[in-house]
Amino acid sequence: MSGKIRLINGNGLRVDGRRPNELRSIKMEVGVLSNADGSAYIEQGKNKILAAVYGPREVHPRHLALPDRALLRCRYHMAPFSVEERKSPAPSRREIELSKVIKEALEPAIFLEKFPRTSIDIFIEVLQADGGTRCAGTTVAALALADAGIPMRDLVVACAAGKVDGVLVLDLNDIEDKEGEADVPVAYMPNLGLISLLQMDGSLTIEEFNQSLNLAMEGCKQIYKFQKEALRSRYVTIKEEVEECLR
Ligand code: ADP
Repeated sequence: MSGKIRLINGNGLRVDGRRPNELRSIKMEVGVLSNADGSAYIEQGKNKILAAVYGPREVHPRHLALPDRALLRCRYHMAPFSVEERKSPAPSRREIELSKVIKEALEPAIFLEKFPRTSIDIFIEVLQADGGTRCAGTTVAALALADAGIPMRDLVVACAAGKVDGVLVLDLNDIEDKEGEADVPVAYMPNLGLISLLQMDGSLTIEEFNQSLNLAMEGCKQIYKFQKEALRSRYVTIKEEVEECLR
């Protein structure tokens, strides 16, 4: 985080023309893969991420099965072509960490106790990365879980806020993440009012941290509307298809 590149121009706009409290453009689609039990796709700015869910299903290897709840597993993976310089397809330390972080962000939302001795497997594939992929990956994985029909207490939605050129900003992109002063990714369950992921990279005063947290939660609430709309349009389509078949 060198802070040498100018990230806020004279008009107070960011490198991609956004105002400080503006999200990147977001597109979501549910049910994009026919072979998974549930799936979803998100574009958030230049991020393109796919999530697939299998389960609840038999656990392999069997000794990992839990007697009182489902085993939740998550794999976050960046495709070799997702960043400018080819990334090794082998899981990096970062991907292993993000897999754990995302799993823990989603876990409190799922009624795992309803499915003892089974597993629920989440695969998150980053096709193109531009900052904030742990957040967009969490948001899209929650949609894929819902699409798989897995009972949840709420959707989980994630967004980061942070500080660039001394200004608090929402939904940092890659250059803001790398060159800015701080990044605070948050995962939130808006209906329950619960936070399931809170991280911070860089440095902020306590006041700036509180403001960033509030900004990130506001961002989450906006993204939540897109999530619900994506689910609604998926099920309207299915309802129409069923009605067509019955005609
Ligand atoms: P997040 O994507 O959640 O912000 P990081 O802060 O670790 O996670 O990464 C920030 C951004 O850095 C990523 O979104 C991606 O654009 C870029 N990045 C991550 N890993 C690599 C890599 N191996 N090569 C090039 N860029 C990368």
